[in-house]
Amino acid sequence: MNELLNYQKSIPIRYTVDVFVAGGGPAGLAAAVAAARQGKRVYLAEAGGSFGGSGTIGLVPSFAQFTDGEHFLADGIGREVYEKLYGYPARENERGFKPFSVERLKEVYDEMATAAGVQFTFFTRLVDVIAVDGKVEAVILTSKSGLFAVKASVYIDCTGDADLVEWAGGETVYGDEEGVAMPATLCSLWANIDYSRIDQHATSRLVEAFRDGVFTKEDRHIPGIQWTDPKKGIGGGNIGHVYEVDARDERSLTDAMLEGRRTVREFQRYYSEYLHGYEDMHLCYTADLLGIRESRRIVGDYVLTGADFIVRASFNDEIGRYAYPVDIHAMKPDNASFAAFEKEYHTLRYGVGESYGIPYRALIPRGLTNVLTAGRCVSTDRQMQASIRVMPGCFITGQAAGVAAALAVEQSGEVRAVATVALQGKLRELGAYLP
Ligand SMILES: Cc1cc2nc3c(=O)[nH]c(=O)nc-3n(C[C@H](O)[C@H](O)[C@H](O)COP(=O)(O)OP(=O)(O)OC[C@H]3O[C@@H](n4cnc5c(N)ncnc54)[C@H](O)[C@@H]3O)c2cc1C
Repeated sequence: MNELLNYQKSIPIRYTVDVFVAGGGPAGLAAAVAAARQGKRVYLAEAGGSFGGSGTIGLVPSFAQFTDGEHFLADGIGREVYEKLYGYPARENERGFKPFSVERLKEVYDEMATAAGVQFTFFTRLVDVIAVDGKVEAVILTSKSGLFAVKASVYIDCTGDADLVEWAGGETVYGDEEGVAMPATLCSLWANIDYSRIDQHATSRLVEAFRDGVFTKEDRHIPGIQWTDPKKGIGGGNIGHVYEVDARDERSLTDAMLEGRRTVREFQRYYSEYLHGYEDMHLCYTADLLGIRESRRIVGDYVLTGADFIVRASFNDEIGRYAYPVDIHAMKPDNASFAAFEKEYHTLRYGVGESYGIPYRALIPRGLTNVLTAGRCVSTDRQMQASIRVMPGCFITGQAAGVAAALAVEQSGEVRAVATVALQGKLRELGAYLP
């Protein structure tokens, strides 16, 4: 137990707004833009130096499916991002991963937030929350200029780690029964790949490489290097796992960054010495943000579960539907864990046109009155988190949280006073898929 220090200070209230958003990943960007477009004063604080979270600062190289193969599920803000990013109309029948240029994605997000009139600062981190009887009164932020406070009517937690909910006294859970979350990945950016010569699956010579001592752990799961710009030989690496990282602890995150960088170098040796087309590959960069797949999840008014996934659940207070498979990466680098992952990933997946509903209640943290969440920390069990966590899912929950927050502002910030019909009506106007 550390020695304690009492610390008291008067700090400026730098923003008084309708809606405060913590975190500018895909969920936070969508929430802030959606609320601002409803005419609300919005301030967003992002700890990093750009919007996009794991997808930009974390170098995650591709979008998961936006559609169920028939319907564009991430419609509204998701469609807008897609069309601005790729420069052609969204395709309803596309269910695969879609690689992207990280710099173009940053540009798209910057333009959307600025045009919507969102006030935002980068390098600004939420560090504390003042809440009384479940109502958040103010949040405390730190930035280069020092500590300051923000007051809002509604607060949206898009930190991915549920920092705001946790520090407001809301209920959260972390990882599996033993409190272990799925492994993280330090993503990477590569050049000089000869895509014309790639003719093997990335895992095809892994066992040989294990035998040759290339790797310090026997990780059988390689999501892969995505072809982000094949003509220029550029690829985005989602390769290597770091196990048992605690996303709530900077010491664990620091160790994981070191291990992540070591792991990337091991994969560089594997790809360049064992696989065709990668012989001259060049490592340009490893991300400054560790790729955290799973962290705290809020416990909300409804907990969306794997059982809901299986029955393709529908809800009266649905704010959208989504369809990505249950993708809990192997928890250990061994054969048995990999086999369990493969079985679930290939079983818990949908056919064309199938999806599950996301109830508004899954965005509302139990015990808090003026707080919403969006993104990978919404109220789910682990199986459902492993589906809804991907970026198009975050656009769906982010957009809904932003619109709901704008409506809640008219109800003194009470997120439970938002009428479902009004919320769904506004979301439909934005194009949301609500059959
Ligand atoms: C390795 C890896 C591979 C993945 N592959 C894919 C894929 O192929 N396709 C796909 O669609 N999805 C993929 N995902 C999932 C997806 O990238 C994330 O789940 C998604 O980005 C989550 O969005 P979010 O907005 O909830 O959180 P994040 O993207 O994590 O963004 C959270 C933001 O909040 C900021 N923040 C955190 N705490 C604070 C604080 N206290 N104060 C202020 N700011 C804060 C962070 O800096 C960050 O920018 C992958 C994830 C990982 C880790």
